Amino acid sequence: MFVYLDNSATTKQYENVTEKMIQYMREDFGNPSSMYRLGITAEKAVKEARRHVGVALGVPENNIYFTSGGTEADNFAIFGSILKNKRLGNKIITSKIEHPAVLEPMKRLEEMGFEVIYLPVDKNCRVDIETYKNALSDNVIFISIMTANNEIGTLQPIEEMYKLKPKNAFFHTDAVQAFGKVNVPRVDLISISGHKIHGPKGIGALFVSDGTKIKPHMLGGGQERNMRSGTENVPAIVGFGEAAKTIASGDENISNMKKVKEYLQEGILAEIDDIKINTPKDSVSSILSISFLGTKSEVILHKLEEDDIFVSAGSACSSNKKGRSHVLSAMNMTDEEIEGTLRFSFSSQNTTDEMDYVIERLKKAVTDFRKLMHRR
Ligand code: PLP
Repeated sequence: MFVYLDNSATTKQYENVTEKMIQYMREDFGNPSSMYRLGITAEKAVKEARRHVGVALGVPENNIYFTSGGTEADNFAIFGSILKNKRLGNKIITSKIEHPAVLEPMKRLEEMGFEVIYLPVDKNCRVDIETYKNALSDNVIFISIMTANNEIGTLQPIEEMYKLKPKNAFFHTDAVQAFGKVNVPRVDLISISGHKIHGPKGIGALFVSDGTKIKPHMLGGGQERNMRSGTENVPAIVGFGEAAKTIASGDENISNMKKVKEYLQEGILAEIDDIKINTPKDSVSSILSISFLGTKSEVILHKLEEDDIFVSAGSACSSNKKGRSHVLSAMNMTDEEIEGTLRFSFSSQNTTDEMDYVIERLKKAVTDFRKLMHRR
């Protein structure tokens, strides 16, 4: 049985998404800026996709700017805001558990002379609101806190934090893992990505609220209303729109994910000893992180792969696949816990029958590994 449980790394494209994209590669391949029929068809398709993405995110479509993915949306939000606001202050607030698409730009800002505060998290991977309050001051110009963490799934208290933000600060949230799973809180800037919702890779968007005036990100021909120049990736945009339309129409998808996640968690708890559940209750329904003590997750991962089961040892979102997870470290987990951590991430297509198979194979992999270590 083939079981894909790495949907936080990427999802399988919906068939309707692929079909739609092919149409805009084969037939309707025009440049949206062209004035003749082919161009107008492409322009209309981009407009419709923008509408679907806006509806799925619960924001006006005109505030959506397409980018080449979540990474670019994060960079756009960060550098666009800083360029705009740098005269108003020097302080930036983020957290220790952000994705590298936020943390690496933050390092660059430190090099440029900005003061960056990295908020710590508790054992549930949640940012402490009191630490946040203490970090707030009038010279804060930018805040970036992710909605849902990609390794643990923990939801952050975004609405509460947003209400407290100083007047000169733009508030950004990386909602790449939350989009399509929960209602993303409406803050100033929101990053989302296509390939986490069964859309194509290499496409994403930044939502910029009306009152938030940021500097353009890419300079050139003036596409995306002068904010992000470059000929639109029409097939990817159309595919993203189709995926957004599909997820927006299906509440039961989330409840299925939740059911499958709970089923797997219960099954593992019943069948396997010496484990630690890292994902708290208040999390997205797509992610479950568990430490199998006395094991090495990389070995278990490859054992499962032999059985056609695909999981992750942490996050696959950076090309640096090795190295200690900064998220698990920030949660103060022990070396043993970190070494034995697996992340299972679900889509609406997973079933409880698949989970029965995963529990059985996982139990064998963990038991065999522990026996082998014990013998040594
Ligand atoms: N932010 C988070 C939380 C992610 O999980 C990812 C990807 O895994 C990204 C940003 C980057 O998105 P993309 O792969 O579309 O560049």
